[in-house]
Amino acid sequence: MARTVLVTGGNRGIGLAIAKAFAAQGDNVAVTHRGSGAPDGLFGVQCDITDTESVDAAFTEVEGKFGPVEVLVANAGITDDTLLLRMSEDQFERVVDTNLKGAWRVAKRASSKMLRAKFGRMIFISSVVGLYGNAGQTNYAASKAGLVGLSRSITRELGSRNITANVVAPGFVQTDMTDALPEAQRQAYLDSIPAKRFATGEEIAGAVTWLAGDSAAYVNGAVIPVDGGLGMGH
Ligand code: NDP
Repeated sequence: MARTVLVTGGNRGIGLAIAKAFAAQGDNVAVTHRGSGAPDGLFGVQCDITDTESVDAAFTEVEGKFGPVEVLVANAGITDDTLLLRMSEDQFERVVDTNLKGAWRVAKRASSKMLRAKFGRMIFISSVVGLYGNAGQTNYAASKAGLVGLSRSITRELGSRNITANVVAPGFVQTDMTDALPEAQRQAYLDSIPAKRFATGEEIAGAVTWLAGDSAAYVNGAVIPVDGGLGMGH
């Protein structure tokens, strides 16, 4: 049965790979963008996840097109790296407001319709560094670790209503975000990953579509690493 899926930040990168994977299995997929428009074949809604009214308007548009969102993938995220001593309050707040509060905003907006439907799948895209930590990323790692508490609290609140909330924690994935890394840092990361390569977006999408599917109905409040072994021991 085709589900209504909303992927935040599904216009590019990992989000686009996730959106394409859902579309390939026949689901009705909407992606958010901030002005770039939707990739070919996907339904796009303009949305800034730091703005509650924009989130509400995007959901309303998706509901008008496909009906209530049944599968929410909170994927949109940013980095703004620098060492703790140099990080401004604005840098910390902006990253947390996007990555953590943005995910909370979309989960809150999705939850009322999921409760009514007595069905819902929420998947939060965290990162290996949320639990592993990373120098220069106090803002980003804190925001990504926060998604674990967020999803586990949703699991406790809504788990009895056939709603699951899980986290996927990718390691390094080949996208614009990792392309922007300095070469020495890229190599250092590759050396520390047991798989000795970065992931593809499709490899992240595989875990996400599985969590949204019927075979994962009893998986709730989980953190699924897709990191080539980088974070073992979490
Ligand atoms: P990209 O930088 O390629 O894309 C980021 C996406 O987030 C874009 O679609 C962007 O939209 C969207 N976005 C950013 N801010 C907002 C906002 N305020 N409102 C709405 N959308 C926004 O990132 P990746 O594909 O690499 O990463 C996707 C997710 O995966 C992120 O949460 C990231 O933290 C996580 N991740 C990535 C890893 C990697 O190695 N790449 C590793 C682990 C986790 P727009 O196009 O409008 O800018």
